[in-house]
Amino acid sequence: MNKSNSAAKLLVIITVVIIGLIIALMFLNNAKNDGSGTTVAEAINIDGQPTIGDDNAPITIVEFGDFKCPACKSWGEMIYPQIEEEYINTGKAKFAFVNVLFHGEESQLGSLAAETVLKHFPEHYWTFHHALFQAQPSSQSHNEPWLTSEKVMELVSGIEGIDVEQFEASFVDKEQLAEVEKDNELVKQYNIQLTPSIMINDTILEDPFDYEAIKNTIEQKLEGM
Ligand code: CA
Repeated sequence: MNKSNSAAKLLVIITVVIIGLIIALMFLNNAKNDGSGTTVAEAINIDGQPTIGDDNAPITIVEFGDFKCPACKSWGEMIYPQIEEEYINTGKAKFAFVNVLFHGEESQLGSLAAETVLKHFPEHYWTFHHALFQAQPSSQSHNEPWLTSEKVMELVSGIEGIDVEQFEASFVDKEQLAEVEKDNELVKQYNIQLTPSIMINDTILEDPFDYEAIKNTIEQKLEGM
């Protein structure tokens, strides 16, 4: 009797432990699915950055991107339009872009050109931004230079409303270099290692191409407000 009693007790203990493990695993899975990213101590300050959308929108989405980065071009074509339609056009989110300089001189040049357009012709910033990504060859090798001063001048000349001479004078003098440096400091501050990196308020996403995770993160933050 005693023997079978302790066997029964053992069975109960084992069952409880197994159920506990299953619950813990379910909880871990949920946490992973819901989190989808790293939470930073302080949301980024986007003063002086190019933004699109309602300034008072409760959600701020920041792309740390590089005009030289093929994945950034893809992200802009595949993911950004969905965000724009669902969250930016509806006033729930605004979007900002911070330059990352992972591809050396050409990244510098592209960032400087974009900052120069932003400073002098802010209403044409996004047109130039998209034109620069569009100019990125689809089958480029990282060593093949394409983001040159000539390319920048060609694109700027094609945008109506930009005074090309005024742009060129500022661009050649590198007047907006401090803005490029400021972005580089933000990249260091938030320990950005990959481009694109997407930050939603205080969360840096694990996978910027997972639109469901982007949606979940935004919806959770909206619910929590
Ligand atoms: Ca900037």
